[in-house]
Amino acid sequence: KNYTKDEIRKIAQDENVQFLRLMFTDISGVIKNVEVPVDQLDKVLDNKVMFDGSSIDGFVRIEESDMYLYPDLNTWMIFPWGSEHGKVARLICRIYNTDGTPFSGDPRNNLIRVLDEMRAAGYTDFNIGPEPEFFLFKLDDKGEPTLQLNDKGSYFDFAPVDLGENCRRDIVLELENMGFEVEASHHEVAPGQHEIDFKYADALAAADDIQTFKLVVKIVARKHGLHATFMPKPLDGINGSGMHMNMSLFHDKGNAFCDNKGEMQLSTEAYYFLAGLLNHARGLTAIANPTVNSYKRLVPGFEAPVYVAWSGKNRSPLVRIPAARGLSTRLELRSVDPTANPYLVIAAMLEAGLDGVRNKIEPRPAVDRNIYRMDEDELKANHITDLPSTLHNALKDLQKDDVLRASLGTHLYQSFMESKRLEWASYRQVVSQWERDQYLELY
Ligand code: ADP
Ligand code: MG
Ligand code: MG
Ligand code: MG
Ligand code: MG
Repeated sequence: KNYTKDEIRKIAQDENVQFLRLMFTDISGVIKNVEVPVDQLDKVLDNKVMFDGSSIDGFVRIEESDMYLYPDLNTWMIFPWGSEHGKVARLICRIYNTDGTPFSGDPRNNLIRVLDEMRAAGYTDFNIGPEPEFFLFKLDDKGEPTLQLNDKGSYFDFAPVDLGENCRRDIVLELENMGFEVEASHHEVAPGQHEIDFKYADALAAADDIQTFKLVVKIVARKHGLHATFMPKPLDGINGSGMHMNMSLFHDKGNAFCDNKGEMQLSTEAYYFLAGLLNHARGLTAIANPTVNSYKRLVPGFEAPVYVAWSGKNRSPLVRIPAARGLSTRLELRSVDPTANPYLVIAAMLEAGLDGVRNKIEPRPAVDRNIYRMDEDELKANHITDLPSTLHNALKDLQKDDVLRASLGTHLYQSFMESKRLEWASYRQVVSQWERDQYLELY
């Protein structure tokens, strides 16, 4: 929806909004807030609210710490769970430098930049439909999360209504109150695990939606005495949580991936875009799976992809082409997990795909067989490579990938690498219980 400043002023007054939350996202994908009382609304709408950028990871050094918040008026939304003092509204903001230029270390600014380039290349939209998964854990007496799941259900279970089902229904209701169009909501394969799918939107709105979604899930879960986590693999031995990304390019004649005369009713652009995703898959993993824990999900046996391959038939490969055609013609990237910064991963997916389109790259043949049953020789014969197995390896692949580096821009690329290398350096020094169990007595 498009709001004017005057409309926002009027709604704020009519609805008794008392606080404004100015939101943006840091390099790690974490939502940051600056909250101001409603009497600051004019200042907010005139792009005059300042904050200290040096307090945000990966933003700027102390010397240049003054930054401005420019609200995107289209993101105006009143939270349905008001406080006793009145309602709280939010605006998602862009970060600007003091000289009035967009700050290039802001992941949202970067996505806007990449989308502008896409429009200059003749497309109207990059549509994204995410499928985020999460676990619900019980809270203990002190309100701290435990590792106790709240149910024993599994995929599409009609188990007796439990804490998880009620909680998920409440989440869906709150999302709908906030204008989300929820397409599906179901229990996932693992106990305590859930998925909620909402309707696709253009890249920027979809990234904003993902951030809002995670916030709503966590807040509603708390009210049910539960902790919602988007950690990719909180428990070993059962499925982890992913966030499949469905994507399509649109031009003014509709879905650019659809061509009724094409092979499998797909356009040549769809195949080129697919080839771009596959060619950049290893470096892309660093951005799509940016935590140490992400790689505990990308292992065989738990429905997560491990190899670089695509299929229009089965559900196990990295990229699947769902059967739907027409407006719903899309590619589904199945590696992405919910710790990915949505602004960064969408920009990177778009640039990877467009690189395939620009250079007319033909994709390798589809793999419709079960890759997990192939031995080394068969994998080689079918040109199937694997995804990086650790954050460390993924970062090395990202470093080698000029297209993906450019999709982030210099500032974001450097702060991303710096923070992720620190994360890896800290992890590799820790001796785990698994190692003690294996070696302490054996050697
Ligand atoms: P799955 O079969 O993988 O479980 P879902 O039905 O759960 O898929 O989710 C499909 C997602 O794809 C939804 O978010 C939907 O809105 C989205 N989608 C549909 N058409 C398009 C499109 N043209 N471009 C991008 N996403 C789309
Ligand atoms: Mg789904
Ligand atoms: Mg599904
Ligand atoms: Mg799922
Ligand atoms: Mg899916």
